[in-house]
Order: sequence, then structure tokens, then C-alpha cells
Amino acid sequence: MTLQNIKLPDDKAVNLGKVYDAIVVGSGAAGGMAAHVLTSHGMKVLLLEAGKRIDTSKELKSDEWPYEHPRRGEMPPDRHALLPNEYTIRKPPYAAGIKANHVHSYVQAWGGSDYSKNLIVDEKDHPYTGSNYAWVRARALGGKTNIWGRLALRLSDYDFKATSRDGYGMNWPIEYKDIQPYYDRVDLLLGISGVKENLPYLPDSIFQRPVRLNEAEVHLRGSLAKMGRTLTPYRAGVTTDGVKNKYRMRCFSRGACNRRAGGCDIHAAFDSPTGLIFPAFDGGNLTIRTNATVREVLVDTNTGKARGVAFIDTVTGKNYEAKAKVIVLAASTLESARLLLLSKSRQHPNGIGNSSGHVGHNFCEHVMGPGVTGIYKQKIGALRTNDDGRPGGFYLARFRNLTEKNPKFIRGYGFEGGSGTTIFPGDAIEQPGFGAGYKKKVRDYAGAFIDMGAFGEVLARYENYVELDPQMKDRWGIPVLRFNYHFGDNEKKMCEDMAETAQEMFEAAGIEIVSVNKRILTEGWSIHELGTARMGNDPKTSVLNQYQQSHDVKNLFVVDGSSHVSAANQNPTWTIMALAWRSCDYLAGEFKRGNL
Ligand SMILES: Cc1cc2nc3c(=O)[nH]c(=O)nc-3n(C[C@H](O)[C@H](O)[C@H](O)COP(=O)(O)OP(=O)(O)OC[C@H]3O[C@@H](n4cnc5c(N)ncnc54)[C@H](O)[C@@H]3O)c2cc1C
Ligand code: SF4
Repeated sequence: MTLQNIKLPDDKAVNLGKVYDAIVVGSGAAGGMAAHVLTSHGMKVLLLEAGKRIDTSKELKSDEWPYEHPRRGEMPPDRHALLPNEYTIRKPPYAAGIKANHVHSYVQAWGGSDYSKNLIVDEKDHPYTGSNYAWVRARALGGKTNIWGRLALRLSDYDFKATSRDGYGMNWPIEYKDIQPYYDRVDLLLGISGVKENLPYLPDSIFQRPVRLNEAEVHLRGSLAKMGRTLTPYRAGVTTDGVKNKYRMRCFSRGACNRRAGGCDIHAAFDSPTGLIFPAFDGGNLTIRTNATVREVLVDTNTGKARGVAFIDTVTGKNYEAKAKVIVLAASTLESARLLLLSKSRQHPNGIGNSSGHVGHNFCEHVMGPGVTGIYKQKIGALRTNDDGRPGGFYLARFRNLTEKNPKFIRGYGFEGGSGTTIFPGDAIEQPGFGAGYKKKVRDYAGAFIDMGAFGEVLARYENYVELDPQMKDRWGIPVLRFNYHFGDNEKKMCEDMAETAQEMFEAAGIEIVSVNKRILTEGWSIHELGTARMGNDPKTSVLNQYQQSHDVKNLFVVDGSSHVSAANQNPTWTIMALAWRSCDYLAGEFKRGNL
């Protein structure tokens, strides 16, 4: 099979005189799915994306070795990726003390990557203020799906109905049976690899061929099973058996996923352009304009309904308007909240869809940092095996607050981890020494390391919120977000438990411990920001209904993670797409019935 590429029409060719059936803002997981589903229902859709098109076939070279790159993979010297201790630099004057012309989030530094600098925003152009927050943004067609980590998990009623179990917060307005058919559709359309485990709190997907666990991981799985805990092969949003899509190939296990900050140049790993947008474009109902930063949802002053959007050409700085009968925001959790707040009018003085005052609030995500690294001694000096060609290692499912009630914290966490030889042995960087002895040590230990790190639920709290900064604007003159966001006591207690259990589990498995990490990483580090426009049945305490439709403005939908009522502890992207599919099916039905 040969991969196809697509030639999209020039941005200027887009007809802005036309009234589209729907405008979708943003082209990541949520926007890609919205465009895909709405066009499949025959709706004429204009997709506006703030970032540029990236020619991944030229820019993303998954198989390039560091020594083939002019700077061993490093960025040019005028660019800098933020370190954990630099996340306080958002106080004006912005990025003071950092001499580099371009400043990127910490993700840009992963694996000495040069590739993702063209995707990840320059923080000098895209500032924000307030409390510490590592806000990773990718502005390009496909958004963060170009570099995501691929772990694709489902939520369950332990998450949707968590309030009924522990009394905290608000239940979602849906239950698992409402979303399950849409999870199935996402699995079948995009491909996911994994193994069925029959866990009620981590539902199985319709899996393709799984990633194989290697020796150390099989050993750990056996030891954990005795504790009643489940370690399962990485549930990867990767097609291992292939899907019907001429833009994607099946994974042939080159072990290259982690060579760059994500990204798969044969698109076996899901990304929104090849998985959703290009196939939709081929259907003939989709128009795409990149370099189009939406700055406001425009309102019909007679009806109070949305009539279109105002946007800025990111390159020329010129202002334009586009018109549609329905507006679908999918700019990502925080950018969609920003857009709602920016869209003030006589009818919507606090921002469109914000009569409840909840836009920007109930902001939640995952807390991470604690984990453990060990050595599986049986593999030291062992012959190198071909067990590393995988798009992921393992996932250890939640085990807290399921049947028992932890006295210190509510909700739960899971671990992501892995072992074995990676295509480039990470320990080579940290191993001291030089010459033949150094090389032998690197080779001997390369396949013996095993590590895992936890991702835990951060509780959705009204008092954790974003708002518009009254002074600071971005490079295009648009007010930026101010963060008021902190981890609470529940997260801190949970993190203590993560470090303790990580150590216990490795000890129980007889894995020699190299280090136990107790440090909590800065807010935002998990790149799973959620909440800010939550769904709910009560318009006084929620922004959207169960179909991600604004309670206030019936032709306005917000289909990204901002709608999530709680963060759960599972990575969110598969849920974002399943929900977006469900809502867009509903939207298309209402549209046909003339109800929007
Ligand atoms: C390194 C990394 C690893 C990750 N690993 C995982 C993982 O393993 N599992 C998982 O589930 N999730 C993971 N994620 C998170 C995942 O990428 C996101 O959940 C997902 O991309 C969210 O989709 P989205 O459409 O809401 O946002 P995005 O993918 O960010 O897309 C939003 C798009 O909207 C555009 N946009 C923003 N503002 C505007 C505007 N005003 N006008 C027009 N367009 C606009 C942006 O340019 C962007 O293209 C990871 C993310 C990163 C960066
Ligand atoms: S291991 Fe598979 S999914 Fe990962 S980069 Fe290689 S082909 Fe793509």
C-alpha cells in the first residue's frame, strides 16, 4: 500500500460570502471528528484552523537517527524549551530573562526533538498570565493529535456517576451505555490495539492486534495479579491490523513512536488530518481554511443566536467574517473557553453561553509526577531481543476507591509504564563513563530498565478557573487567559499514595529499585486540560446539555474536553472523540428537522 497525500486548496480560495451549514473551529481530535461526522450527514462545513498545514511527509522523519540530523535532533540555538522551574515566567514582562527569540513549552524538549517546534506554539506570541501552568498548545492542522502519546482509554460509570459513589461534585448527564456505541464507532473507524480485561472500571474497546508485553512486564503483570491489580498492554490509538483509509498504514512496529515528541509518519498512530479531515475532504462537503484564528462568535442581534465568527488571518493579520447556521467550537478546552468569554454582546454580556457564570470554571485535568524506575536484573547483559518495536508499553489500571474507600483521598489513578530496549537506549544519556566500558554498560543495561508513572484525577472545583486577562493580549491583539488554578489537598494526598504504591509494587515483584519519584509536576504537565464549559442538566450550574449544545444558544455547540464534568483518571482523547461523534449525530438530526 502506498500512502496518499492531499493537496488542500489555497486559504484565499475559501468563499466567505457563503452561509455554511456549520463552521467548526479547530481541527484537533474534537474538530476533526465534528467535521467528519457533520459532512458525512451531508452538511456543508467550513473548518477554521488557527495553525498552518504541516507537511508531515517532509517534516516528521520517524526513522531519522540523531546522528543524521544536523544538530543531533536539537533545536536551532535561538529557540528554547521551558524547564520545570521556568513556568513562573508568565508574569509581565513576558519571558523576561530568556534570551532565545522563540520559547516553547517543555514538550518541545522531549527526545531532543527538532520536529515539533513547528507545531508547538511560540509562547512569546501566545502568552498567558496568572498561576503556574504548563500549557502545551499545538497550532497546526490536527492540533495536538500530531504529537499525542496514543494512550486511548474509555471512561466508565465509575467516572460518569462518581458523585453517586463518593458524594463529591456533579454526575455527568450521560452514562456509559449512552456513549458506548460511539466508543465502538471510534474504535472501528480509527483502530485501537489492546487486550480485553473485562474490568468494569476500564471498559474494553474493540481491539486490533495488541502490543506485546516483554519479559519484565509479563513478570510485573503476574505479580500484580496476585494483588488483584491489572497490568494490560498499552491501549494504543494505533491501527495494528489496518483500517480502510488510504492516508494511513498499519503499524509495523518500528519502535519509533517515542523518537520524537509523538508523531508517526505513516499515520498508523491516529492523527486528525489523516484519520478524519482528509477523508471528510474527499467527500466534497468540507472546506478548510488554515491560518484562521477565530476571535469571536458573532451574534444575530434580533435572535441572540450565533450567526458566524470573526477571524484573523494569522499570517497577514487581516480581519474577516465567516457565516454559518450552526457554530461548533472545538478549539481545545481552554481556547474554547477563551472564545466563549471573548464573545460578548448585548444578549450575552458575560460571554456567549455564559448565563450560568460557569464558563472557565470547574477546570480539571490529571496530576502526575510520582512513579518508580527499576532494573529487572534477569535482563542485564541478556541478548538483545526485538521486543521494543511497539507504540507503547503497558497501562496499570486504577485500583483505588473501587471496592474500598481510601481514608486519605477520593477518586483514583492509573500508571503508564514500559520496559525493554527502545530504539535509542535512554540510559546512554545518564550513564557515566566513556570508551569501551561505557558502551558495554549501556548495552548490558539497555533492556533491563522498567519504569512507570501515575496519572491521577484532579477534582473539578468551581474555584479553579480561567478568565480573560484585563491587560495582556497575544500577538494578534486578542486578550489572553489568566489562570487561577491550583492542585488541592486531595491531589497531594493522592500523589503521596502513588509514590508509595509504585515502590511497593516493584518491591513485591522483586524488581530492584533505582529511584522513586515523589515530586508533583507543575499544574498542566499532563496536557489533559478538561472542564471549563461543563455539560449538565441544570442551565444554572452548567454551560452545555448532554449533547454539548449551549443551554443559552441552541445553534452553538462546544465539542471538546471543555464539556467534561470531571477528569476521571483516564487519558481523555478517545472520550472527546466519542462524545463529539454523539453530539454531531444529534446536531445533524436537529439541523434536518429545522430545530437549530
Ligand atoms: C505530547 C502529548 C501527549 C499526549 N498524550 C495523550 C495520550 O496518550 N492520550 C490521550 O488521550 N491524550 C493525549 N494527549 C492529549 C491530546 O492530544 C488531546 O486530548 C487532544 O488533542 C485534544 O483534542 P482537541 O481537539 O480538544 O484539541 P487540540 O488537539 O489541541 O486541537 C485544537 C485545535 O484548535 C486550534 N485552535 C485553537 N484556538 C483556535 C482559534 N481561536 N481559532 C481557530 N483554531 C483554533 C488549534 O490550533 C488546534 O489545532 C497528549 C497531548 C500531547 C501534546
Ligand atoms: S511504532 Fe507503529 S505507530 Fe509508532 S511510529 Fe512506528 S509505525 Fe507508527
